[in-house]
Amino acid sequence: MESKAKSKDCRNVNLLLIGLLSAFLCFQQSVGLGQTSDKVLKVMVDAGHGGEDIGSKGSRGVSEKDITLALAKKLVQVLETVETISPELVREDDSSISLDQRAGLANHNHGDLLVSLHLGTTFTPVPTGFTIYYWSPTTAAPTATPSSSTVRPWDQEQEPYWEKSRMLASLMQEELLWSIPWASGGVLPADIYLLRRVRMPAVMLELGSLNHSEEAAQLQKPEFQETVAKAITQAIIKYRSLDEKGLLLPQTKSQ
Ligand SMILES: [Zn+2]
Repeated sequence: MESKAKSKDCRNVNLLLIGLLSAFLCFQQSVGLGQTSDKVLKVMVDAGHGGEDIGSKGSRGVSEKDITLALAKKLVQVLETVETISPELVREDDSSISLDQRAGLANHNHGDLLVSLHLGTTFTPVPTGFTIYYWSPTTAAPTATPSSSTVRPWDQEQEPYWEKSRMLASLMQEELLWSIPWASGGVLPADIYLLRRVRMPAVMLELGSLNHSEEAAQLQKPEFQETVAKAITQAIIKYRSLDEKGLLLPQTKSQ
């Protein structure tokens, strides 16, 4: 594992890079070069947990599965206001959907991006803030599936997309830092089952904690949910613009 100092340095470099790219985008827009294509971007919005899987639990009976669904619906509402984005909920109600089903649905419906929404957990008075995860080859446990076949194994679908996922996560961190008064726990690689199995850039956002009274109160406010949704939408718009200009980092064989 990286030392905390190194990890912080990486975050700072990451933020600087994202800041420079964002400034470049603003400049392009100011001189009229920031037009994007009309291609519709399909964004799969995954509300974590559901049904009997309630996720984390807060006081007064509120559960993670309810907050993630409310956030997901709000995000779809905001994304729908962008003409060239077509959002789709992976889970539309309080149903129980396995991680394989979620990945299968996102792949089958040809999503261009996936955003999975979760909450964190804390048992200390320190706020959790938010953390954004992406899958990377360095985090992957050895796969049981041999990769000699020309068909990519089901549990390695994310491999061609992970660098774009990292950029999306970094853009999302930047927008959230501007939009909500919460600290970032960072943009972190993790071997997350769902992310590893989707055939598109994908991130998982852990937003606050129901165990923390102040964060729990914020998370239940529709205005706060809308602010988060707008920040995520802005990050997706910037991501798309950078991607179309070929400014996202090229994929390398290994990290
Ligand atoms: Zn969760």
